[in-house]
Amino acid sequence: MLDLKNCDGRKDIKSMTLDEITEELEALGEKSFRAKQLYDWIHVKLAVSFDGMSSLSKELRRKLKENYSLTSLKTVEERRSRVDGTRKYLFGLEDGHIIESVWMQYQHGNSVCISSQVGCRMGCRFCASTLDGLERNLRPSEMLDQIYRIQSLTGERVSHVVVMGAGEPMDNYENVVRFLRLISSEKGLNISQRNLTVSTCGIVPGIRRFAEEGLQVTLALSLHAPNDEVRRTLMPVANRYKLEDVLGACRYYFEKTGRRLTFEYSLVRGVNDNLEEAGALARLLRDEKGHVNLIPVNPIKERDYVQSDRKAIADFKNLLEKNGINVTIRREMGRDIGGACGQLRKSYMEGEG
Ligand code: SAH
Repeated sequence: MLDLKNCDGRKDIKSMTLDEITEELEALGEKSFRAKQLYDWIHVKLAVSFDGMSSLSKELRRKLKENYSLTSLKTVEERRSRVDGTRKYLFGLEDGHIIESVWMQYQHGNSVCISSQVGCRMGCRFCASTLDGLERNLRPSEMLDQIYRIQSLTGERVSHVVVMGAGEPMDNYENVVRFLRLISSEKGLNISQRNLTVSTCGIVPGIRRFAEEGLQVTLALSLHAPNDEVRRTLMPVANRYKLEDVLGACRYYFEKTGRRLTFEYSLVRGVNDNLEEAGALARLLRDEKGHVNLIPVNPIKERDYVQSDRKAIADFKNLLEKNGINVTIRREMGRDIGGACGQLRKSYMEGEG
């Protein structure tokens, strides 16, 4: 049985599967259809309190309140971009921590970028989320509720989810996998697994284990360099795992799931953006099943990394294309509302928000 608990020690019912809720309610002497109703209140109607669950008896609602927590995030701040409609949210957790999520509108639907941890301990040099280290893991309910709150606030269906906010998903493995199953559950929001993307800095055992889960989600690898030497200057995790092994794990992921990968490459001026590096990247990925997503690095004030200029980005892309690599340039969304990649949270915590 699940032993996830919220801060006051009550069981975290929003992190439970329907089977688990059914068992819990049976123990309380309730029939199984009550469990279905409760699951529907939590994961379809997106209820924020037990009190509002009008189809359940008062007595059951009282028992639920006594024994369980219904994790709900508090909206601390919402910022809307005037440029592209992107919205950024700061949400408060029950223990006072703040996390950041982003809502983006695309032609193919609405996408939410969620955080998987409060902070991060991976230490990537260009990333704002890792500057203060890891505070704690998020529970499945806290990942789900980022989406539930945003869908409620915008009034629009979320069709895609990317686990690309603060945190390293493979460093919070069980909770992330449980989250993926719950968000794609037919009895919940039922977001297709093919519309879910998990981004990792490249933790080899995590990727290999993830390949065995029987999930159909897209895996994105934060590559950011064509060789170990450059990668180590940007990402401490590269000291633990060689690129060769990371790419081997990615190939295994493709073999097991049939899902093509995304290779993320943040372009940093003078660090990883010259044409020699583009050529090396093309050779490195020649036989890999996936495409490259180029991201102009978002400069953070704590570091002196600078974005590559437009021409360098275009040249880098062209060279990859000439070598037969599929490549896209990530559109920058919501630049006018507090940077990106954990920078809104960071500035809020420092009192500049
Ligand atoms: N820990 C996971 C997911 C979170 S970061 C991972 O490393 O993949 C999501 C993506 O944004 C990663 O590719 C990360 O390297 C990139 N990223 C983080 N900060 C950035 C910044 N300031 N500019 C550009 N990309 C950044």
